[in-house]
Amino acid sequence: MSPSDRSHELYRRACELMPAGVDSPVRAFRSVRGEPFFYERGQGCHVVDVDGNRYIDYVGSWGPLILGHAHPEVVEAVARTAASGLSFGAPCRQEVELAELVTAAAPHLEMLRFVSSGTEAVMSAVRLARGATGRDGIVKFSGCYHGHADHLLVSAGSGLATFGTPSSAGVPESFARHTYVLPLDDEGALGSLMEVRGSEIAAVIIEGVPANSGLLVQRPAFMRRLRELCTRHGALLILDEVITGFRLGPNGAAALYDLRPDLATYGKVIGGGMPVGAYGGRRELMERLAPLGAVYQAGTLSGNPVAMAAGIATLRSLLADGGSAYAELERLGAALAGGLAELFGRAGLPWSVVRVGSILWLALQAGEPPRRYEDIDPGCAATYAALHRALLGRGVSLAPSAYEVAFVSLAHDDAVIAQTLEAFEEAVREIG
Ligand SMILES: *Cc1c(COP(=O)(O)O)cnc(C)c1O
Repeated sequence: MSPSDRSHELYRRACELMPAGVDSPVRAFRSVRGEPFFYERGQGCHVVDVDGNRYIDYVGSWGPLILGHAHPEVVEAVARTAASGLSFGAPCRQEVELAELVTAAAPHLEMLRFVSSGTEAVMSAVRLARGATGRDGIVKFSGCYHGHADHLLVSAGSGLATFGTPSSAGVPESFARHTYVLPLDDEGALGSLMEVRGSEIAAVIIEGVPANSGLLVQRPAFMRRLRELCTRHGALLILDEVITGFRLGPNGAAALYDLRPDLATYGKVIGGGMPVGAYGGRRELMERLAPLGAVYQAGTLSGNPVAMAAGIATLRSLLADGGSAYAELERLGAALAGGLAELFGRAGLPWSVVRVGSILWLALQAGEPPRRYEDIDPGCAATYAALHRALLGRGVSLAPSAYEVAFVSLAHDDAVIAQTLEAFEEAVREIG
């Protein structure tokens, strides 16, 4: 049998039944012009596909698996909780415990509500912002991803118009007209828009550190200005910490920028691999949610005990030993980024490695790492596709898109990072 026979056969069957054989587009490997492999199991920093190939994994289920795959404490908590019932659609002890852990990490989270995905968290936070301010306008930034709710699947309009245009078929123009899209890293553009439209804006939403179109690290001055302008114009600042929450540290990007958002959204790490999202903020805002207030939002599986148990076990493990986990993530991230930068230098490649803690992105282009989506060279996608394939062949799995970041987990170690660097060395030579 060839090393991908079983994956190939499953993919063929999947494509008959599901669009492109997947439940989420990037999984289809289109942007690396390949065919996806089917996962059989994961353990620590490794995954094994259905053909028995083993890879060092830097996808980490797109961020949640900060402890690595199948962490024994998380698996045990899930199994134990599941044995007492999967879902009640009613209050359970685990919701209170996870809410205590999450809110204790962030001073701006006086209250929160759990949902089942990051998309749902953002969609609900935006509705709450609109309900609380009585305004309809939303400002987002080009290159930031906030899930697939209609009013956020919007990209910058052409020319000087900052009105958004739908970035997906099926999103009405009339919805997109409520969303303004601005470039990141541009206080001037933000200031001008708020000057003219500030009184119509319910919320400005930004990723903690934009990590869905490369890793676009923002200047602290830009984040400060964002906070000031929201306050001045009565717009709420929503910090989307779905990736960064508990990934960069307990208080995510809010701590990195010393920022106090009005609302924050969570997902990924707080569910430890189970479907969990959350949104929260000041008490007087959160108390506008039904049944206390007029903003409706609900969920059959929200706060279900098994998902909550995975989150609790993950956060407890992360927060044990006074947060030494974050020092270790920083050390591992720096070792990988440093090794890669050195290797690219030796190979005479003008590429850079952008890193915040355990989140890394390969900027396969010359010059300063970009801070704005518009500054990412689309030409890097072809190089990335070749690199991605060469690495898979050497047992290293990166995300199947040039625009996606890599995640280091606590299950990675120095030996695995050394192995990864060796694989890169060979891969770079191969595609040279
Ligand atoms: C992943 C992500 C979302 C959406 O979360 P889902 O759980 O995939 O719906 C929202 N915002 C950011 C910043 C994300 O990275």
